[in-house]
Amino acid sequence: MFFSEILNFLYKKSCLFCNNKKENSFFCSKCRKELKFNEFKILRTINEIKIYSCCNYSGIPQKLVRLLKFHNKKFLSSEIAKLMKNYTDILGLDFSDYEIICVPMHKLKKKKRGFNQCELISVELSKLLELPYNFDLIKRIKNTKPMYNLKINERIENLKDAFEVNKKYFHNKKLLLIDDIITTGTTISEIIKSLKKEDITEITCLSFTNTDKSNINIK
Ligand SMILES: [Zn+2]
Repeated sequence: MFFSEILNFLYKKSCLFCNNKKENSFFCSKCRKELKFNEFKILRTINEIKIYSCCNYSGIPQKLVRLLKFHNKKFLSSEIAKLMKNYTDILGLDFSDYEIICVPMHKLKKKKRGFNQCELISVELSKLLELPYNFDLIKRIKNTKPMYNLKINERIENLKDAFEVNKKYFHNKKLLLIDDIITTGTTISEIIKSLKKEDITEITCLSFTNTDKSNINIK
């Protein structure tokens, strides 16, 4: 009995955010409650497309994204998707006749990281929203430099012609474009441009997080 209790304690999951083992959970109820959603409204528009973002990129949401992206905690993609689903439920968005796409990663970068976090989130979200996930419509054909140190003009230049839309995979559905973090919005803007070039215009964007830079006006 005593021995099994010790084992139980040792193997109990601790919360990734407060280290508490009480609930035997990676994401305890106290930390869940602490997570703050953004206001339930459009964050901004880019090229006439509505952009929604669930949380500010700080505190627990930031940690969730970092753990997923850089610490290989792939199971957190479903936690993120659940939060995104909650947010859209409260917003009351109607996604009937939608298909999900996500910000694509270049195949070399995906090979290096082993996964595209946006893809993992999108697959989970597509299950929760009961929407098809379209893997093939848009690809990143240019292996772009990391963006965090680039100025806005350099970001735009870096992303020029980075995406390729393959219209043969367009199913006449509206598109829900998923991102994990919106900073300046240049990536989303370039994707929207590429889609619009192919006359695909019914797009809504949903990001899990946004930084404070995300109000910069870009076309
Ligand atoms: Zn916790």
